[in-house]
Amino acid sequence: MPEPMQSSTAGNPFFEAWTTPDSVPPFERIAPGHFREAYARALAEHQAEIAAIAADATPPSFDNTIAALELSGRALERVGNVFWLLAGAHTNDAIQEIERQISPQIALHWNKIHTNAALYRRIDAVMRGADGLSLDAEQRRVTERYHTSFRRAGAALVAPAKKRLGEIIGRLAELGTAFGQNVLADEQAPALELSDEAELAGLPDFMRDAMRAEARERGRDGYVVTLSRSSVEPFLQFSDRRDLREKVFRGFVTRGDNGGPTDNKAIIAETVRLRAERAKLLGYDDFAHYRLDDAMAKTPQAARALLDAVWTPARSRALADRDAMQALIQEDGGNFKLEPWDWRYYAEKLRRRQCEFDESAVKPYLNLERMIEAGFYTAQRLFGLTFSRADVPTWHPDVQAWKVRNADGNEVGLFFGDYYARPSKHSGAWMTSLRDQERLSGEVRPLIVNVCNFAKPADGEPTLLSFEDARTLFHEFGHALHGLLSSVTYPTIAGTNVATDFVELPSQLYEHWLEQPDVLRRFARHYRTGAPMPEELLQRLLAARNFNKGFATVEYIACAAVDLDLHSLTQPAEIDPTAFEATALARLGMPHEIVMRHRPPHFAHIFSGGGYAAAYYSYMWSEVLDADAFAAFEESGDIFDPATAQRLRECIYAAGGSQEPAEAYKAFRGRLPSADALLRKRGFAAARAR
Ligand SMILES: [Zn+2]
Repeated sequence: MPEPMQSSTAGNPFFEAWTTPDSVPPFERIAPGHFREAYARALAEHQAEIAAIAADATPPSFDNTIAALELSGRALERVGNVFWLLAGAHTNDAIQEIERQISPQIALHWNKIHTNAALYRRIDAVMRGADGLSLDAEQRRVTERYHTSFRRAGAALVAPAKKRLGEIIGRLAELGTAFGQNVLADEQAPALELSDEAELAGLPDFMRDAMRAEARERGRDGYVVTLSRSSVEPFLQFSDRRDLREKVFRGFVTRGDNGGPTDNKAIIAETVRLRAERAKLLGYDDFAHYRLDDAMAKTPQAARALLDAVWTPARSRALADRDAMQALIQEDGGNFKLEPWDWRYYAEKLRRRQCEFDESAVKPYLNLERMIEAGFYTAQRLFGLTFSRADVPTWHPDVQAWKVRNADGNEVGLFFGDYYARPSKHSGAWMTSLRDQERLSGEVRPLIVNVCNFAKPADGEPTLLSFEDARTLFHEFGHALHGLLSSVTYPTIAGTNVATDFVELPSQLYEHWLEQPDVLRRFARHYRTGAPMPEELLQRLLAARNFNKGFATVEYIACAAVDLDLHSLTQPAEIDPTAFEATALARLGMPHEIVMRHRPPHFAHIFSGGGYAAAYYSYMWSEVLDADAFAAFEESGDIFDPATAQRLRECIYAAGGSQEPAEAYKAFRGRLPSADALLRKRGFAAARAR
């Protein structure tokens, strides 16, 4: 791999002040070779800062301990923000190599800080004396967060346990990186290369265009289907060729599960074992208890109770849909039993019949550019935000940037949209930041990023989205607003730095506005004629939104349940991931025709880093909140009700982690929600009453 400028710091952009507009990272000057020395210097600098705080001879105070910690590690954050953005959205062999080296180093660096006994004594002293200090609510909360995270990281442990914890954390970081890189490798392998018309049967034009573009990107003729979700799902939905559907499906569900160098099963077994050991060292029964102790749910039992309440009606709905699809097969003269690779195909046929609604009829009205505008429009109506194009450095020519302003014209920050799939990008969709909002070191405005994987159209063609794609766009933009609207002093509690089972509230809540006729009438316009979506089609689209919801709920809950099972092992035993998955699904009563949305060998949420480990239930937990929160607007009679929107901004989008999640929600809604609004939203309310 290239290793430029190993010995010289000259020209390394990470050692200079950035004079770009809004101090955006000067991407065009940043090369992979810069990261190694930038990391080395930033880590050393942070270590020195921490040593100085820990060794301070003056008695511990908020300023010399907590605020000092908040101001430390800035160089590390600057290089990390850029590095992790590229590692996810535009990686290459050089970056992957650095990632393998640097992940365990960073994990150990933080472990050393979190287990620094002298430092913890000072934090503990500030925490215990907090009542006597004249701290404001935010300072008190930040002190609490430091105390909690140090305690949970093992600061109070004795030396041998601390040493073992350090080993575990370093190893887990290596395993997480390897897991993600294996999945990326498997997804980039072409699943199918097609050339003749018979193989393309049933595929609409938008898919043929995207598949042709995919082939061109790889320097091939014909049409390529990859194993990324954005390529596989429409193929399974539309291809008339049952044999090809089976082939693509089998490739998709065995990502990370093919034996050989990209197989993730040994990584899973070791990760689960080490997490159980880590939880034990910290005094918890198992990893799930450890993880949820610092979440809104508090216990795995609370999370499971929610999953159980929704599982039964969801499964019944899915089985009823399965039977209806089997009847369609018979009607068509098909002499076979519905298999998992048939589900999306026959669901599409069933939808056309039951809802008189055809996914490909909607697509010409869902132009990416217009849907981005729809997201901006909603933010303007709710929060008074405006968006204008910004000419700033980016990491890829496809990336777009906007300057975001408040109603009074004051700048809020910058928003970057990186919407197209490409071989250098991990699959999925996510929000991240190049800089978080804060006021501790002056008025710092956030740089917020959305990354998606929409299929890129041929040159000159518009990007047409499915309704699910449009929903993803709104979802990620909801996260982006959480970062943009953040209004706190201390970075530790800024933006999306909230509990995992609360962080999906701002994103999932935002999806509700996409489903509003007022928004769709304005922005769902035909890409060629500009005509609005016919009212009748719009009504059918909205009526069909809960179609196949049983399937979607089952494939999701299966993941959330298996995640909790994997992390409820009380002894750090060696598991066989395949057998474990089969047993867990059998116990749940998983229908044969549905697979987990993410099978363990490619379940990046929980194994590519620990982001959602024992916390995949969070999406549904947050949905309880978002369904109930949107009802506040409906009850007001105005989906943009200014008073409700103002409360939403203050208590949720701007507040970051400045309160306990339950308190923040109560401040907005006046009470806590129940699961009823969620069951109604998913169309299961009637099923439950039976
Ligand atoms: Zn999300």
